[in-house]
Parts: sequence; C-alpha cells; structure tokens
Amino acid sequence: MRTDLYQGHDYYLLDELLTEEHKLIRETAREWVKKEVSPIIEEAAEKCEFPRHLLPGLGEIGAFGPYIPAEYGGPGLDQISYGIIMQELERCDSGLRSTASVQSSLVMYPIWRYGTEEQKQKYLPKLATGEMMGCFGLTEPDHGSNPGGMTTNFKEDGDDVILNGAKMWISNAPFADIAVVWAKNEAGRIQGIVVERGMEGFSTPTMHGKWSLRASDTGELIFDNVRVPKANILPGRDGLGAPLSCLDSARYGIAWGAIGAALDCYDTALRYSKERVQFDRPIGQFQLQQKKLAEMITEITKAQLLTYRLGQLRDEGKATSAQISMAKRNNVDMALTVARDARQMLGGMGITGEYPIMRHMMNLESVVTYEGTHDVHLLITGLDVTGLNAFV
Ligand SMILES: Cc1cc2nc3c(=O)[nH]c(=O)nc-3n(C[C@H](O)[C@H](O)[C@H](O)COP(=O)(O)OP(=O)(O)OC[C@H]3O[C@@H](n4cnc5c(N)ncnc54)[C@H](O)[C@@H]3O)c2cc1C
Repeated sequence: MRTDLYQGHDYYLLDELLTEEHKLIRETAREWVKKEVSPIIEEAAEKCEFPRHLLPGLGEIGAFGPYIPAEYGGPGLDQISYGIIMQELERCDSGLRSTASVQSSLVMYPIWRYGTEEQKQKYLPKLATGEMMGCFGLTEPDHGSNPGGMTTNFKEDGDDVILNGAKMWISNAPFADIAVVWAKNEAGRIQGIVVERGMEGFSTPTMHGKWSLRASDTGELIFDNVRVPKANILPGRDGLGAPLSCLDSARYGIAWGAIGAALDCYDTALRYSKERVQFDRPIGQFQLQQKKLAEMITEITKAQLLTYRLGQLRDEGKATSAQISMAKRNNVDMALTVARDARQMLGGMGITGEYPIMRHMMNLESVVTYEGTHDVHLLITGLDVTGLNAFV
C-alpha cells in the first residue's frame, strides 16, 4: 500500500461547528491511524487477522467507550467526539472500527447502562484501556434479523445459572476475554449475562472464509451447560429493548464510520484523477469522471450533515431509534456507491491492494448487513412513518 496521504474533505465547512476539543480528538486519532495502522492494514486483511497489538493504542486514543464517564475509566466525551473517532478508524478500515464499536457500544455500553456498580467497577476500567476485550452475542444460526426468536437460554441453579445455546457471526469472539450474551431466562425474557473466557463449556471457534471485514476476527460462541454466577446477569433491563438500545449506539457509530470509508475512497479517486493521464490529459478532466467525483462529494456532504445533526440529537437525548436507522442505512449505502464508483475511476489499479478502495468496498458489504440489514432499516423507517408493521 502507498503512503497514507489522506486529507479530510469538508465541503460545507462543518468544521466551523466543531469545538477545538473535537478537532484535537480527530487529529490524534488520524495521526495514530496513519502511523500505526495504515502501514499494516493491507497485510492484516490479506492474512485475515485482526492486529491485536493495536489494542492498547485504541484505548489510548479514546476509541474504547468514548462516552463512558471518567469514574469508570472512560474519557467521558460527547457523542460527536465518539462519531469523529469512529470515522477516523473506518477511514482506514471498517474492521478496525468494528473492533472499537463492539467494545464501546455492545460491551461497555450495556454494562454501564444495565450493570450493577460491582460489574461496572470490575469490567469498565479494563475495557477502556483494551487490557480486557469483549464481544456481543445476539445473533444465532437461525435468528439473525429476528433476534427475538433466539433459543439460547439459562436456568437457575442455586447462586448460578446454567447457560445453553450458540451464537454466530460474533465480532472479536476469538480473542475476547468476556462476552455480553443475550439469552432467555426461564420466564422467556431476554437478559444480558457476562460470560468469561475459561468458564467450563464455553468455547469461541473462529469463523473462516470471509471475503469481507478480513482485518476483524469473527467467531461463534458455544455454550454447553456453562455455569455462570447469577452476579454476572445485567439486572438493569430485560426484554429485546435492552440489546436493541446497544445497537442504537453502535449503529450511530457506523453512520459516522461509513462516511470515513467513503471519504477515503473519494480522496483516493480525486488524487488519482489528477495524476492518471489518458488521451494526453488527466482523467479528471473528462466530464464522465467529474460526474462521479461531483456526485461522491455531494452524497458525502449530505451524509455528514445528517450525521452531525444526529449527534446533536443524541447529545440532547432526543435521537430516536428510527432516526439512527435512517442514518445507518443511508450512509452505508452511500459509502458502497462511492466505493464502487471510485474503484471504477482507478481502472485496473482499483482492484489491487495498492489502493484501499477494493478493501473498503468488500468491508462495506458486511457493514450493510450487520447491525440490521439495509432492508430491515428500511422497514424500520416504514414502520415509523406509517405506524404499520411490515415485519410480520
Ligand atoms: C462480519 C460480521 C460481523 C458480525 N458481528 C456480529 C456481532 O458482533 N454480534 C452479533 O450478535 N451479530 C453480528 N453479526 C450478525 C449480523 O448482525 C447479522 O448477520 C444480521 O443481523 C443479519 O442476519 P442474518 O445474517 O441471519 O440474515 P437474515 O436475517 O437471514 O436475512 C437474510 C435476508 O433476508 C432479509 N430479511 C430478513 N427479514 C426480513 C423481513 N422481515 N422483511 C424483508 N426482508 C427480510 C434481510 O434483509 C436479508 O437480506 C455480524 C455479521 C457479520 C457479517
């Protein structure tokens, strides 16, 4: 891969809406990514493994639980800062952002929101530094878009519960120290429970054969009569709303992150269009190539505006799940379109690992599916505007 020459693009002067702290956070994340990740990301994707030596660095730039308060070891930042960090990470690779998203929104967030004080003190400070890593088990082999149908369950046994079932497609599972697992209790209500590596009957086999998100480790979670202390149950909330609230937080991060992938593709294609000469002129001089670039920056700018406003709404506690769905769906779809157009602009070079575009494009095929598929988010918007449920 070439030297990372990325520069941000801010067509509507959105930087004027950012604080000095926001800009500092962005600069810190961007510099770290350029120095530590860009030089190795292509090789990690080729090898299909997450570069685990990056974990302490991710902790240092505040990528693990950016909004978790200082009393639990987090940086205590606002939602715009959280979005900015996710954008800088995904600007480099969606797998890198996925690792941070899962740790922040799907592991730290539920412990922070629904855990006991003891659970928060035990897990959150170590998760914030990356000394401890977590994963989030919701999806099952037979229950993806319909997680409410899950069959993973636990039964009480003295001071413990006995957990049985299986989860699949779980990011970070192969190396996670803990898993926040969603399972049904004896009353059939969904509850979160923290399962720790080393508990007997708990295994995390790696899933192989991915052509997307290759620099992120994905695995299964198998529970074969796993004895878990009752003290590991997150008592603060039960029902499907609990995991869905975590997904809101993660989807919000994805909405920002996808813009990062799109910006990297646009930035690469723009630079290439000025350097690559065909028919004695730079290809950027041809109207057809300008059309692609003009449409890319227009769609990126629209997504930036949508996401910035969503961040304000989240900071004010006003953002709805449906608004988050709209931003996730729109921005990932936008990023995929930008990646496909950018890839064409690079001709044959666009399919190589010398440029990041093909990797972004393949990654985004996962991002458009996980955390609610493109179509499922459309149905959420449809339900929100009509009040009529098309899911059933
Ligand atoms: C790389 C990767 C990492 C992941 N990480 C995690 C993780 O960390 N934790 C976790 O719990 N899960 C994770 N997932 C799982 C992910 O959230 C699911 O793949 C996703 O929810 C879709 O479920 P499914 O794959 O079973 O597809 P399905 O639900 O089987 O959907 C198949 C198709 O049917 C469509 N469909 C489904 N229902 C409807 C409907 N009612 N109306 C119209 N169309 C419908 C879908 O849109 C889709 O196009 C990950 C997935 C991937 C690929």
